[in-house]
Amino acid sequence: MTQKHVVFFDTTLRDGEQSPGCSMTTQEKLTMAHALEDLGVDIIEAGFAMASEGDFAAIATITQAVRKPRIASLARAKTEDIEMAARALQFADRARIHVFLASSDLHLEYKLKMSRAEALETCGESVRLARSLADDVEFSPEDATRSDRDFLVEMVRVAVEAGATTINMPDTVGYTTPEEYAKMFRDVRERIPAIDAQGIVLSSHCHDDLGLAVANSLAAIDAGARQVECTINGIGERAGNASLEELAAALYVRHDRYGVDSSIKLDQLYPTSEVLGNLITFKPSPNKAVVGANAFAHESGIHQHGMLANPLCYEIMTPQLVGVARTHLVLGKHSGRAALRHRLEQLGFTLTRDELQHVYYRFVALADRKKNIYDQDLVGLLPDQIRERKQEPVAELD
Ligand SMILES: [Zn+2]
Repeated sequence: MTQKHVVFFDTTLRDGEQSPGCSMTTQEKLTMAHALEDLGVDIIEAGFAMASEGDFAAIATITQAVRKPRIASLARAKTEDIEMAARALQFADRARIHVFLASSDLHLEYKLKMSRAEALETCGESVRLARSLADDVEFSPEDATRSDRDFLVEMVRVAVEAGATTINMPDTVGYTTPEEYAKMFRDVRERIPAIDAQGIVLSSHCHDDLGLAVANSLAAIDAGARQVECTINGIGERAGNASLEELAAALYVRHDRYGVDSSIKLDQLYPTSEVLGNLITFKPSPNKAVVGANAFAHESGIHQHGMLANPLCYEIMTPQLVGVARTHLVLGKHSGRAALRHRLEQLGFTLTRDELQHVYYRFVALADRKKNIYDQDLVGLLPDQIRERKQEPVAELD
């Protein structure tokens, strides 16, 4: 793995699956895992082995059927959790045990009722145990962004010395900002030289409570993170995780800015989003970046005119790039003559300037009353003499 490669760690089946409306059966998780393999993700977090028998079964099933990505299980910093994760992963070609322990005083005091000293000891013991069971161990200081910085550094140092191969510093509650998150990564790298010296991978894990998950993840990459944790359609606890498709598209479209590569097959983004949308109870919102139904739809007349002249006027990537069949010019009250002419020509009607003007008035009047204008509505607007001239396309040219 080179410095230029960003590892995509998908947690749709763990963080995503544990959010409302997203639970999946083992069979459904397996379907999703195959889609993630086709998409090219490097690591699939398949579940939390200790959480339930269903999670354990899903992890074990996926390790036997999905071979390309590394398979991970989450585990609390407890002996029984770590041993259970190792058992669920025993048939994986390449396994990862992902151990987490809170590093913020708030979590230590109220949730875990543990002192800082006890937390450091537990961290070291857990990572050592995990390393005795797997050669690839990720450690996450939970709530890293709200932790005392000196203590966070101490805990990460203990995890590194105990043999962690990836250190993930999550913004568990979606609280941080890009500048602040980047600074945390720079601080930790600077204060623990072993991270860079031993090639330990730093990772981001961002929640979207303030709508900053993707921006924060990109900031972490800027500061040296080489793994991003994310989910399909951005599903996950509360407002969700960083969206995989947005991260992958941003790194591609702005390669000039970030200069890193990933193994994500961009043309599988939309198909994978569809697989998930059909398995859980909701689809991405229509205005969701990259994979929403309207992500490549243009309605306003000025935009449609520009799109027909040259798609680059209003699109920074083609829909085909991310696996969407084609740009959708929506005919509505904001559309102009250019889009109307274009659609009528596709339907086999070539109009003179005056005819187009006449039909356009009728079209605008209809669009004022009706939200969606369909092809049969358009044909209905045409005077008889135009309708009779319809030319059947002899052949379709691309
Ligand atoms: Zn999370």
